[in-house]
Amino acid sequence: MTSGPPSAPELGPALVGPVAVCVDRPLLALDRAFTYEAPASLGVRVGSVVRVPFHGRAARGWVLGPAEEVPARVLPIERLVAPRPAFDAQMLELLRWVAERYVAPLASVIGRAVPPRVVSEEGRARGDPPARGRPGPGPRTAVLSGYRGAGELLRAIEARASGAFALRPAPEEEAAVCVEAVDACLRAGRRALVLVPEADPVPATARALQEAFGTRALAWLGGDRRARYRAWLEAAEGRFDVVVATRPGVFAPLADVGLIWVARESHPALREDRAPYYHAREVALARARLAGAVCVLAALCPSAETAALGLPSVAPPGRRWPPVEVVAPGPEGRAPRLVRAIREARRGFLFSPLPGAGVARVCRACGEPARCAPCGGSLRASRGVVRCVVCGAEGRCPACGGTTFGLDRGGVERVEAWASRVARVPVRRAQRPRLPGAEEILVGGPEDVRDLGPAGLELVAILDADLARRRPGLAARERALSVWMEAVGWASPGGRAIVQAADRGDDAVQALVRGRADRFHERERERRARAGFPVGAAVFRVVGGPGTGALLEATRPITLLVAEAEAEGDRAGEVCLLALDPRDVPAFGRSMREAAAAGRVERVEAEPHL
Ligand SMILES: [Zn+2]
Ligand SMILES: [Zn+2]
Repeated sequence: MTSGPPSAPELGPALVGPVAVCVDRPLLALDRAFTYEAPASLGVRVGSVVRVPFHGRAARGWVLGPAEEVPARVLPIERLVAPRPAFDAQMLELLRWVAERYVAPLASVIGRAVPPRVVSEEGRARGDPPARGRPGPGPRTAVLSGYRGAGELLRAIEARASGAFALRPAPEEEAAVCVEAVDACLRAGRRALVLVPEADPVPATARALQEAFGTRALAWLGGDRRARYRAWLEAAEGRFDVVVATRPGVFAPLADVGLIWVARESHPALREDRAPYYHAREVALARARLAGAVCVLAALCPSAETAALGLPSVAPPGRRWPPVEVVAPGPEGRAPRLVRAIREARRGFLFSPLPGAGVARVCRACGEPARCAPCGGSLRASRGVVRCVVCGAEGRCPACGGTTFGLDRGGVERVEAWASRVARVPVRRAQRPRLPGAEEILVGGPEDVRDLGPAGLELVAILDADLARRRPGLAARERALSVWMEAVGWASPGGRAIVQAADRGDDAVQALVRGRADRFHERERERRARAGFPVGAAVFRVVGGPGTGALLEATRPITLLVAEAEAEGDRAGEVCLLALDPRDVPAFGRSMREAAAAGRVERVEAEPHL
């Protein structure tokens, strides 16, 4: 049933009198609304970008709504800066949710959510609204309706209801199921937002959406300032019914969103690395709740966080996963079975997590352990040259000045060299992420495993699976598993995969064999809880003066680790890491804002990498 096109977005009513303004000073200590007088002549609304006097100087600000508190002396707004509000009332609700959840200044959240202005683009946008895009041919396949749990998902989309689902696609159907869900959403008369972790090369999911929906779909994937701002303006004017975008697109100004789809939701690029340190998956869930929309978290290997939510799951019926063999690493990391498979394969992908040809262990001249002379970093051989992985300096022994080293051999260059001698087809390292050609074996690392579309490879091999266990970091194993699964998915349907691992009982290896990670996640949950950072807890790093740890004790942390900070100037301080029950975050945020205003806390970082 077609209910006609979604409505064009409406601007809120004009505000006159005292209004609350968020001043563009992104500091926790100043994270509150300030009151200004809005003259009737300006016609400001919620989201209007304005210029206001602030501590004797002019500052940019955003109108939040009628003022709640009116002090004795109120200064007037000087002028309206941009013709179009930066957000509407519903988006403001989301921005406020982000500020509270990540204990971030609202000004820094708005600064990340709205692209920088390019004034000349606004001139072009005035006048007639741009034409709505023309529809494309729609989905080419109908596979989603055959998935277990898809009935409930499609009914929720069609009924314009809200809800969240965890979806595990068959590897070769990753883009197709997204297109079908988006189509259902458009037919229900609403808009769809699809988030992808990476922009370059353009993910297969984004290409499929553009093919299916033509110019109704906007791929908002990077581009220069001008192009980004132009796209933002046109989306705000209601031109597009589908937006596919990277992380900041979770704030795309799309009215009447009925579906938010997060592709590869376990990908680390969905987390913003700068203030306000938000995670696009969590923001997507919040936006869907506020907008009464359906949120789908899709991944071959869900994140531990998604697995812990216990969402209704949508997955293909039966096993849709290539056969995966586990072999013990042979001499020099080459199992005989793997060597035979490479000899027979005409099209394949060999995954090695290490770049280069090996790591320098010892100085050949003096026998001292190898390390970088200027910085002490470790040294890696690549293309015949040994360099520091930290500072890039050419390798020289700090003890004797020697430049030859004993190597621990391994890495993509080594794999390329030995596999070339074994294989019948050319073996190459990918210069940029791509799928192998018709008669080709590619060697690559984690950065080469992308959403490149159905691959149908004869062979995928995961080398050095044991390395993942030695990687530091709480989420390192989970990240390794999800990359392995995305690579092994390239062997589907009809291909085979080989994993080299010393311990075939390892739960990550077993998840790879089964093609599903539920048992792995159960163990991970136990492991993370034992480590004091349970899955689903809110984690913060707080930097402040002496006594910060004592202050944080009062916020009822699950875990609190306190370390002396390196003194900045003559000021010593503390760096604290804490895990909180999410329900305690609002109170924690109030306490941090007060402490920041009192000069006791310098910085709060949400969800740091552990
Ligand atoms: Zn030496
Ligand atoms: Zn160095």
